[in-house]
Amino acid sequence: MSKPLLSTRNLVKSFRAMRATDDVSIDVMPGEIHAIIGPNGAGKSTLIGQICGSVAPDSGTVALLGRDVTRDTVQARARAGLGRTFQISALAMEDSVLENVLLGALGHSGHPWRFWRPVLREAELQARAMAALERVGLADRAAVRTSELSHGQRRQLEIAVALSLSPKVFVMDEPMAGLGADGSRELTRFLDRLRQEAPILLVEHDMDAVFALADRISVLVYGRIIATGTVEEIRASREVRDAYLGEEA
Ligand code: ADP
Ligand code: MG
Repeated sequence: MSKPLLSTRNLVKSFRAMRATDDVSIDVMPGEIHAIIGPNGAGKSTLIGQICGSVAPDSGTVALLGRDVTRDTVQARARAGLGRTFQISALAMEDSVLENVLLGALGHSGHPWRFWRPVLREAELQARAMAALERVGLADRAAVRTSELSHGQRRQLEIAVALSLSPKVFVMDEPMAGLGADGSRELTRFLDRLRQEAPILLVEHDMDAVFALADRISVLVYGRIIATGTVEEIRASREVRDAYLGEEA
């Protein structure tokens, strides 16, 4: 049997008296999209933060490619193969699309990007950045100012930034947020192809996208995973309906 590329074991994080994540253990297997759904405040972003290294767990572990990274920095995890998409505000709107890929990749080196300005002209870096843009379908927009991209294209650019680091597994927190119906459908098709390059842990509210994409779904409610299963199993679960899905299923 294949081994998980990403796994958490018994992650706990409390804010004052409240447990934002309460004993969360999940796996992301090669080739799969594992969706995390749950109501607002369930602890989804806190879980993502613990996986990526921006939130320190009170207890529990995170393993990447079989190696314990619980104490590693955000940058170290990115270098080790964890691809994260950030919020739109992480993009430099006045810079070109290509510059954002270059700067985003260099940002993970831990140095201020200004320091790297002269390096940006290096042919190999440029080629890698262009290849990442090619893969998300934005190569013809490389020289365009980022502010001129549509919301959907900005999401694709964020994924290109992550791709330039050759991630082994992706973690995404609500990538469909703010996209219209067309943008969501376009991004859904894109993520469907992306899973062949690297599996995805996908936190998402858009249930059309989740049902279309997920190989497995885990339902997080009040910090606890109450169910994990296929789309059919989750849709059929009485407990999940009561706790979260309501009319949507
Ligand atoms: P979700 O992403 O599922 O909406 P979050 O992980 O953002 O949920 O939040 C889970 C709970 O933890 C919420 O009640 C939220 O208010 C709380 N929380 C999140 N981050 C912090 C923080 N830095 N300080 C205090 N409380 C927080
Ligand atoms: Mg959230």
